Amino acid sequence: MLHSGAAAVTPGIRSTTDAAIAAEAEHSPHNYHPLPVVVSTGEGAWVTDVEGRRYLDCLAAYSAVNFGHSHPRLVAAAKAQLDRVTLTSRAFHNDQLGVFVTELAALAGKDMVLPMNTGAEAVESGIKVARAWGYRVKGVASGEANIVVMAGNFHGRTTTIVGFSDDPDAYNDFGPFGPGFRTVPYGDVGAIAAAIDENTVAVLVEPIQGEAGVIVPPADFLPGVRELCTRERVLMIADEIQSGLGRTGATFACDLVGVVPDLYLLGKALGGGIVPVSAVVGDADILGVLRPGQHGSTFGGNPLAAAVGTEVVRMLAGGEPQERARMLGARLHERLGALVGDGIVAVRGAGLWVGIDIDPALGTGREFCERLMARGILAKDTHGQTVRLAPPIVVDEADLDWAVDELAAVLSEVSDR
Ligand SMILES: *Cc1c(COP(=O)(O)O)cnc(C)c1O
Repeated sequence: MLHSGAAAVTPGIRSTTDAAIAAEAEHSPHNYHPLPVVVSTGEGAWVTDVEGRRYLDCLAAYSAVNFGHSHPRLVAAAKAQLDRVTLTSRAFHNDQLGVFVTELAALAGKDMVLPMNTGAEAVESGIKVARAWGYRVKGVASGEANIVVMAGNFHGRTTTIVGFSDDPDAYNDFGPFGPGFRTVPYGDVGAIAAAIDENTVAVLVEPIQGEAGVIVPPADFLPGVRELCTRERVLMIADEIQSGLGRTGATFACDLVGVVPDLYLLGKALGGGIVPVSAVVGDADILGVLRPGQHGSTFGGNPLAAAVGTEVVRMLAGGEPQERARMLGARLHERLGALVGDGIVAVRGAGLWVGIDIDPALGTGREFCERLMARGILAKDTHGQTVRLAPPIVVDEADLDWAVDELAAVLSEVSDR
């Protein structure tokens, strides 16, 4: 008899897992290379696959599931709204949007919230707003605006955004791309200063670069960018889509260094892992440049999204998720730090968010993630050797400890090979 959790595979008949993977591979383009696990349910920090195996989710959908799977408060908010009304379009008002934008603006200490759906749309919207502000307020010559962006950036997958990526996988064969972006090394205020001219409207920066491998800039970088942007009358736009909303132990990663950008770009966790919700958050002197008919989205600000987003904001307003990420993050960094030298080259990050560089002699990040998966832990590699851990903030301390123990076990397993 098979013990519970083991796959029941009859010879000649594909397992449920293989069948699901095959169906996806046949009818969906291969623009991802997922680990061979087929998730069917999730609760808190844990997911269960179609064959009943349980895994600790240490990716949390790239921080979109910061509050865990099926959080009771978020599910209740969504269900209540499902029974009322879900979509009205912005041609009419709905009774949820005003609450959402008021409470999110208060959380961020800003006047206004421009609601959108995906992260990439928030970035696109931020670019449009910055350009319109440049022409209408700063007085930049028509069609001449430029925006300074960082090497190694990840801001999404639309054609404008991949046009200023320096990852060939992101941009190759997807051009031609529009002008108006200048790339400088990440972490170098002097390089930004050199790139700024009278037509610069914004500096677009991730406070911590997530996709690049959880890259934390020097402590004086963001304060330096803030000072420079103020001096040069350029908007500082912080893409907090992955770093924001509790992940780093603060509401925004910018808070960790006492910096307030002109615009926050938010997404991922803002939708509570239930619906896509994104936003550009800033003051009225910037977001107020948009006039009727100049920007929009059929689904942006819909009542279902607003109801879930409001509940997310209320959870963060209490400060508990941030405090928990800070506390558990300190423990995670301390325990992983002790493994540096034993097959781990470096550990970086903030709060409950780490990038672990695996010694190439022990194998790739992907191989490492496959071994973690076999032990019941789901994580994602990035850029070859880096394994990224970003468990839901609701993760139990004991489960987190267990994950580190399993990671250490994988390290000794591969070094003994
Ligand atoms: C994920 C991400 C985006 C894009 O968000 P999507 O919802 O996938 O469009 C943009 N910026 C950062 C920093 C991200 O991590």
